[in-house]
Amino acid sequence: MTQKGKLFVVGFGPGDFNHITTRVVEVIQESDLIIGYKTYVDLIQDLVTDQTVVSTGMTEEVARAQEAVKQAESGKKVAVISSGDAGVYGMAGLVYEVLVEKGWKEATGVEVEIIPGISAINSCASLLGAPVMHDSCTISLSDHLTPWELIVKRVEAAAQADFVIALYNPRSGRRTRQIVEAQKILLRYRSPETPVGLVKSAYRERQEVIITNLEEMLNHDIGMLTTVIIGNSSTFMYDNKIITPRGYRRKYTLNAEKQTLKAHQRLQKEAEPWALDQETGLIHGNDGASAVGLLTKTLEKKSTSLEMAREALARVTGQSASQQVTSIVQQNIESIFELAVSPGVANKQFTPKQMITLAEVVGERGTMEYTPDHKIILKIPTLEPEAITEKLQAVDFSLSPVGDVLTVKACDFFDGEKAEPIPYADELQRVLGGMEMPKELNIGFNGCGMACYGAVMEDIGIVFRKGKFDLFLGAKPVGRTAHPGQPVAEGIEPDQLVELITNIVDEYKLKAHPNERLFKYFKRAKQIQGYLYQDMAPKIKIEPAPCED
Ligand code: SF4
Repeated sequence: MTQKGKLFVVGFGPGDFNHITTRVVEVIQESDLIIGYKTYVDLIQDLVTDQTVVSTGMTEEVARAQEAVKQAESGKKVAVISSGDAGVYGMAGLVYEVLVEKGWKEATGVEVEIIPGISAINSCASLLGAPVMHDSCTISLSDHLTPWELIVKRVEAAAQADFVIALYNPRSGRRTRQIVEAQKILLRYRSPETPVGLVKSAYRERQEVIITNLEEMLNHDIGMLTTVIIGNSSTFMYDNKIITPRGYRRKYTLNAEKQTLKAHQRLQKEAEPWALDQETGLIHGNDGASAVGLLTKTLEKKSTSLEMAREALARVTGQSASQQVTSIVQQNIESIFELAVSPGVANKQFTPKQMITLAEVVGERGTMEYTPDHKIILKIPTLEPEAITEKLQAVDFSLSPVGDVLTVKACDFFDGEKAEPIPYADELQRVLGGMEMPKELNIGFNGCGMACYGAVMEDIGIVFRKGKFDLFLGAKPVGRTAHPGQPVAEGIEPDQLVELITNIVDEYKLKAHPNERLFKYFKRAKQIQGYLYQDMAPKIKIEPAPCED
């Protein structure tokens, strides 16, 4: 029987060894495989001994989670690592999402252990003094996965409710406006003098700590690695520290040996003029609060939280509870639905009806991007993706997912005149098109030896010639070391083509590492389906380009 694997989802804190927990060290040593974003893997390099390490790029969290689950299911002990805490913007949720998708159950599936770490709000706070002493929240300003409108609501609500706020992901190369907008919102509710701490790379080599205020915070460098901590209305600065008191009114005297109020006196009503009275429901010393008391009493009779919320809103707005119902329903969160549309594999001509439908479904808030391979990528905020696909299919669009999927890119076969190979291109699209891959995989399919649509420069190149097919594998399509695919076979019988290509794709999908493009896999594996690898890279010495992977 195969040994049951185990998944460790590890948060190793800010990054220096002193703040890594003992349990993290244990599980890294216990694991067969470590999976993480390259920067994180580098940070724990000293702990790695003979474990296999798979490191991938920043945006490939889903691939990391999927690979981790796959490897654990095959019997390995796998550590998925991230900095901070695994459950705070880390990998824990994503790993569970992948497991849930597969129908995982704790009793029968692979064992999962989440190992907590120190999140940025804690590590950064410790370098600033004691800014997070009271009710606080974290808000990520990244709108890659969360609609910006919702982020605005959160910042506004937190500002209004006087939370100490830790802003994660405040700015990146492309996202520069978010922190500016957040500051504007905060300034509507808080004094410009409110203390703000900016901590970059806490407890790492390039650590920077800046203490400033809400009005001036944007005059300082804020980047991807910065956490911004904003004090509440009672936070103060003292000797280059940010300190938030434990409460809004002091019930203790800090500089006296003897407290003026004894412990039991501090809890008496007179010492807590802001508290809600447990018997009357009134706030002491606050006449305007009598409505709160009345409301509390009314609410005591209600049986559900929804009823209580309706009643509360009715009293605040003056509308009846039934009029308020629509305001209380749980907020549905829009997703950005992303897909590619084209008129077909061989057909490159869009009809007016298709263009009108595109404009309708994309609307004012979506985007359309035309690609070099005759497709249009749509990004549409929506709650109902099915309604969109129905409309697009009704006007004969061919739809495909985007990202790390298989794409069939065919030529136009002399505007359809060279029709003989088209059914094979259509069949490849039907069988393989849109399939998830370790990395994007393009099949170029051209209808004659001219190969004018560049089939030989795709991961898999297929060229129809004299009634049969030639096959090219492993082109490197971009970069200064770009090269065509290796010609591996000529004269493939048409009825063998789809099966052969399917076998090649299946092998690549099963054996390639996440993020490993076909040419890299071919070079590493030395053969695919019996076709032996030959180096097609240019023989002249070329310095690597800075952004080449
Ligand atoms: S590859 Fe050949 S068949 Fe296809 S469009 Fe170019 S010339 Fe025409």
